[in-house]
Amino acid sequence: MLFLVRNCNLRFLPGPARAGLFLLLASAAVRAETVILQPVIVDSAFDHTASDLVFADAIFAQMSLDFEMLPELTSSTLPATMDTSNLGVYLTDSTWQLAPVLTVWYVPNITGARGISFGGTVNSTVSYGVAVDNVYANDTLAHEIGHVLLDFQCGTTCYPGDSAHADDPNNLMAPGGTYRNLPASVSDVYGQGGTDDQLTASQISLILQDQTGFLEGPEPVTAVSFLSGTALVLCFRRVRRRKNARFKCV
Ligand SMILES: [Zn+2]
Repeated sequence: MLFLVRNCNLRFLPGPARAGLFLLLASAAVRAETVILQPVIVDSAFDHTASDLVFADAIFAQMSLDFEMLPELTSSTLPATMDTSNLGVYLTDSTWQLAPVLTVWYVPNITGARGISFGGTVNSTVSYGVAVDNVYANDTLAHEIGHVLLDFQCGTTCYPGDSAHADDPNNLMAPGGTYRNLPASVSDVYGQGGTDDQLTASQISLILQDQTGFLEGPEPVTAVSFLSGTALVLCFRRVRRRKNARFKCV
């Protein structure tokens, strides 16, 4: 559509009309993307889904990306402590959802971490998941989702010796612990009045390449169509996946 307009003579339009048309086309060109999440509350894990969603939306607003959460699932069979050496248990569990839905397990405890992101091959299909535990930081979910959307690359200047984390403490993908500057409130987030959890232009560009297939998901109301047939096959076909990666994040 932009191509067609560019080759039309618009001088017959009055100035305000041309300006309005430009703004309309510009807004269409920067269409917002949505990633759909499936929260799963495991055992007696804290339910901090609402807060996590607020921070994830605030953080990824800098690239016009937002999140929708499907209705929560619960699991009384998955273990209360996540065994990070056996993540296949989660990718083969009945609570795991097909792409483009990204499953988020809320677990009471992850050994040695407060969040984790991982991908693994299950029945010849590489699958992704993330998890957060009861000692989460406000941006832990956003950070773990960032790992998946970046396909486990740092996407900018990497933290020394770590190809998945960023070197800048103000970057969303900086390692946790005491290194990354964590937002105490939404107003600490970059673009919301603060400087925390920034994404660089190169990271945004990499995410928008959609190497993992979670962008351009349907709105939740239409997600059910992905349960059937052709759409699902096409969805998996367009995904180029990095195999058997996992990152425990403190
Ligand atoms: Zn991390």
